[in-house]
Amino acid sequence: MTTERVHLLIIGSGPAGYTAAIYAARADLKPVLYQGLQPGGQLTITTEVENYPGYPEGIQGPEMMIDFEKQAKRFGADIRFGYATSVDFSGSIKKVVIDENHTIEADAVIIATGASAKWLGLDSEKRLNGFGVSACAVCDGFFFRGQDVAIVGAGDTAAEEASYLAKLCKKVYMIVRRDEMRASKAMQHRVLNTPNIEVLFNSETAEVLGDQTVTGVRVRNNKTNEDRTLDVTGFFVAIGHEPNTGIFKGQLQLDESGYIVTTPGRTLTSVEGVFAAGDVQDHMYRQAVTAAGSGCMAALDAERWLAAR
Ligand code: NDP
Repeated sequence: MTTERVHLLIIGSGPAGYTAAIYAARADLKPVLYQGLQPGGQLTITTEVENYPGYPEGIQGPEMMIDFEKQAKRFGADIRFGYATSVDFSGSIKKVVIDENHTIEADAVIIATGASAKWLGLDSEKRLNGFGVSACAVCDGFFFRGQDVAIVGAGDTAAEEASYLAKLCKKVYMIVRRDEMRASKAMQHRVLNTPNIEVLFNSETAEVLGDQTVTGVRVRNNKTNEDRTLDVTGFFVAIGHEPNTGIFKGQLQLDESGYIVTTPGRTLTSVEGVFAAGDVQDHMYRQAVTAAGSGCMAALDAERWLAAR
């Protein structure tokens, strides 16, 4: 085990982590950023991004994250490949172990490890990911305007996204595995009263169909065992997200779903000198631009905290 002392450590390389690195590097905090297992984060598994301001023609998600990285490097951020495997935030010097063999001792830490969308686990869903399969209606719904789509899930996210899609798409099938929805009554009411949303209860996705792009979904009724093919070009999965906070359990206050709890309107966590930004502390907005915004906030919060010390 080797040990290294740094001023500011940033964990995670989505929009939140890189934006924190840009601000911190320009403030001369000499940030060291570890990218994690998926450099660039969730945006690297999307295709076109059209709603990030500053790209009037849109941009591919992976390309955008390369731009973020380049911008952080331009100001001297030390960007490294490596995965945080454990942390010890008990002392005034924060300790983070990378790849189980290198300990970083930092004065301050910004956590931007993000969240991962949950998937059904079908081979066809994986193969067509980014080619009609998406876990974010707000990001990708626009590409399916005027078309028929399906969304799986029955919580508030699925209900909200189904309503969002119904405004853009001709028809929305909502695939619900039980005979009732988990979403709040108000959201259920909205979904059930939207004429172009058809809710399929007791239904499970057997297969997403299509060679290059999605051309349909085979749905099985789990009461009758009957299959039905939906002719859709988009398939949205909205069955929840998992914040990437496993290593922070017992170190930081997490909410009941595992998201890091931050002071409202700030990025401060329950431990002084540890800040959190992006989807790891946000189950509500989950957008690249909101993650980037909170990455900026975390860098400013860290800078002020370090200066005051
Ligand atoms: P939830 O965990 O609330 O819901 C997940 C849904 O996905 C459930 O209906 C579940 O079905 C279904 N599901 C899970 N796994 C599968 C599977 N393998 N196949 C089919 N269906 C599956 O997640 P959400 O993202 O919807 O919400 C997370 C939290 O955020 C909740 O507390 C929610 O209330 C909150 N939220 C609030 C909003 C608001 O207030 N405006 C907006 C969005 C979210 P089942 O019901 O059968 O378990």
